[in-house]
Amino acid sequence: MVVYRVPREMSVVRPGSHCVACGAPVRALDNMPVLSWVLLRGRARCCGAPISPRYVVVELLGGLLSLAVFECIVRPLPADTTLLHAGSIFATDFALAMALLAAAFIDAEHMYLPDAITIGGTVVGLATPGLRNLGWVDGLVGAGAGFVGVWLPLVVGYKALRGRAGMGMGDAKLVMLAGAWFGWPGAVFALFAGAVQATLAALVVVLVRGRIEEPASVRADREELQRAAAGGDEDAKRALEEDPLANPPAEGLMAARLPFGPFLCLAVIEWMLAGERIGDVWSLGR
Ligand SMILES: [Zn+2]
Repeated sequence: MVVYRVPREMSVVRPGSHCVACGAPVRALDNMPVLSWVLLRGRARCCGAPISPRYVVVELLGGLLSLAVFECIVRPLPADTTLLHAGSIFATDFALAMALLAAAFIDAEHMYLPDAITIGGTVVGLATPGLRNLGWVDGLVGAGAGFVGVWLPLVVGYKALRGRAGMGMGDAKLVMLAGAWFGWPGAVFALFAGAVQATLAALVVVLVRGRIEEPASVRADREELQRAAAGGDEDAKRALEEDPLANPPAEGLMAARLPFGPFLCLAVIEWMLAGERIGDVWSLGR
């Protein structure tokens, strides 16, 4: 629901769940994660419109992540940890995992990362370092290093050299989030593990499909802006001038547009679940 509504600037609270095809409200019993989709065989009860399997995939991944947070982070806590402390750790880490899950799917479709998640998540991370055995300074240094470390070379520097940004501001804010939550080692890991995984994914896509296609909805968003600008809409003209996605991608692999956010999100989740072990292996400390 968040993945669908946030890019459309809709409230995630009101109205309650309704059918995207006919607008009928969804009954509570038909709104159970995964189970309802299976019972309804992927079709809306109201009008029979197909319900995107993406809802089920996101719900299943959410369930797996809650299990992983419990097994990898909560269960290994020392025996004298209070229930309140353990509960707070589970709640914040699970909330981060769900926010990153939503961000990954939004970026995969629209190639943009909502500030509500990247900046909002950074604030939550800066406010809760004690839940991850970090000090206040660790979070602040990590957030600053994460943002500047991406923004300066990959947004400003790359643009000066090649005329377009190598990464978006959303990516810089997401690495800032990683640093706010897990200190500078988390930011470093997010950036490098994200880049390695994105490169592997790009190789697989090229091997299977022969080329990397821009997401269809990114093209649709751009065409809508161009129509508005042609009709004299000043806001749309300004947006087209500033938006790095405003022009169709150039030919060639180096110019291919691959959303980087999903791979950053994956790397942050990996560091959250296994950072201590990864840090030991690479002597990154934590
Ligand atoms: Zn319907």
